[in-house]
Amino acid sequence: MVIVQNGLDSERGLKTFINMFFKTDDDLSVFSDFNYSNKIINVYTVLYYENKKYTDDYYLNFDSEGRSENLINKVFRAACANSFVHAAMKIHKINLPWGSMCGIRPAKNAREMAEDGSNDDEIEYIFEKIYEVSPEKTRLAMTVAKNEQKILNEIGKNSVSIYIGIPFCPTRCLYCSFVSTDMRVSGKYMNAFCDKLVLEIKKTAEVIKRLGAFAESVYIGGGTPTSLDNENLEKILSAVNEYFDLKKIKEFTLEAGRADTITDEKLAAAKKYGVTRISVNPQTMNDKTLKRVGRKHTAQDVKDIFLKAREIGFDNINMDLIAGLPDESFEDFKYSVDEVLKLDPDDITIHTMCVKHGARLKNAELEFTESKTMNRMLEYAQEKMKNTGRIPYYMYRQKNMVGNLENVGYAYPDKMCSYNISIMEETQTIIALGGGGSTKIVTDDDIIRIYNYKDPKEYIEKFENILEKKDEILKLKGVI
Ligand code: SF4
Repeated sequence: MVIVQNGLDSERGLKTFINMFFKTDDDLSVFSDFNYSNKIINVYTVLYYENKKYTDDYYLNFDSEGRSENLINKVFRAACANSFVHAAMKIHKINLPWGSMCGIRPAKNAREMAEDGSNDDEIEYIFEKIYEVSPEKTRLAMTVAKNEQKILNEIGKNSVSIYIGIPFCPTRCLYCSFVSTDMRVSGKYMNAFCDKLVLEIKKTAEVIKRLGAFAESVYIGGGTPTSLDNENLEKILSAVNEYFDLKKIKEFTLEAGRADTITDEKLAAAKKYGVTRISVNPQTMNDKTLKRVGRKHTAQDVKDIFLKAREIGFDNINMDLIAGLPDESFEDFKYSVDEVLKLDPDDITIHTMCVKHGARLKNAELEFTESKTMNRMLEYAQEKMKNTGRIPYYMYRQKNMVGNLENVGYAYPDKMCSYNISIMEETQTIIALGGGGSTKIVTDDDIIRIYNYKDPKEYIEKFENILEKKDEILKLKGVI
C-alpha cells in the first residue's frame, strides 16, 4: 500500500479510514493533495485500486481567522479524510454515521467546542458540514454533552476518582477484549492478588492525602469483581472503607457483571460496605446467545439476581446490553431490550458489538449483523429509552465497531454515573488500582497515563513497581 500526501500530512488519521475500507494486503495506492487559500480548502484525492483509478475533488469554505490552531488542524485533517472517504465509497459502500470524526469521544468534542465559544448552530455546522456526521448522531452527541454537564459541574475541586480492576472471570466470553483471565486458570492467584491489592488501596489513600485531595467516586470493575470468593470480596470492600473517607464518596460502584458470580452473601457484603451502585450485565436476554458466547447462566438467572438486589435495597442498578451479538437478529435484540426494561433498571448501557484483536470471536465463524440492522437496533433502543424517561449521558466509540456506531449509557436523570462521565470527559484525575487499570493524571495542559500490570501473576510479582508508580503521581503533581 502506498500513501503520498502533498500540502498536509494527515496519514495517521487517514489510515483509520483506509483500514475501514480496505484490507492491509489490498492492491491500493492513495494520493492526496491539500490546498488552503482564500478561505477555501481543496483536497484532490486519487485512489489506484486493482488497476483502476478513482478520484474525488473536495471543496469546503472555511475561515480560519480567529480559530484556535487545534480546531484549524482538526478541520484540515477532516477535509483530507472526507475526500478519501468520498473516493473510497466509489469502490465499497460502508456505513459511516460519524463521517470523518474518528475519535472515541464525540460528546467531548461537542462539549469542548461549546467551551471554546461555539454556539449550538456552529457546533452543528462543524459536526455535519465539516465532519459529515449524520444529523441524528450530531443531535445525540450534543444531547449527551448537555446532559453530562450537570454532573461535570458537580465534580468537587481536588477530588479524584478511584478505579479498582479485578481481572478475573469465571470463563472468558467469546467477544471479550477486556482485561480478564479465566478463573479456572488464574484462580490460584486470587488470594495473593487480593492481599497485594489491599496494600495498594492503603498506599493510594496515603498518596491522595498527601495531594490534599479526596476520593469522590470508587468504581470496582474488571473482569468480574464478583468472581472473587466471599472472603476476598469482603477483604477489598472492607479495605475501601478503612482507607478512604466514605462520607466524601458520592458514588461507589461494584460491577457484579455476570449472574453466575453473584450470591446473596456478595450482595449483602456490597450493601454492608456502602456500595451505592451495582451492575448486573446480561448483554443479551436470549439463552441461546448466552450459551453461544460462553456465558454459564440464563436470562432467568439475571432476572432473579436483579430482583434480589432490589430486595436488598440497591436503588441504582445498571444493566448492559450489546447490539449485534453474533447471529442475533433485530427481533432478538428487541426482545432483550424489552425484557431488561421490564425489570426497570436505573441505568442501561447499549453497547455496539466490537471485534477487537484480543477476542476469540475474531476467529470464530459467526455472522456479524449488517449495518442497516445495527442502525435499526440502536434506533429502537434509543426510542425506548427516551419513552421511559432515561436520558443519554455518556458515550464512546471504539475501533472495529460493527457498523461504525457507538456505545451509549441511558439513565434516569438522577441516576447518571459520575465515574462513567469522568472516564470519558477526562476532566478529573482517575487513580487506577489492581489489574489492568490505567491512571489518568489530569493537569492544566495534559493528561498523563500510568499503567498497572494486566496479568494477576505479573501484578503480584512486580508489586514493588506498582507502589513506586503510585509515588510517581506525587512527583507529577509536584508534591515530592
Ligand atoms: S464477563 Fe466481561 S470481562 Fe469477563 S470474560 Fe465476559 S466480557 Fe470479558
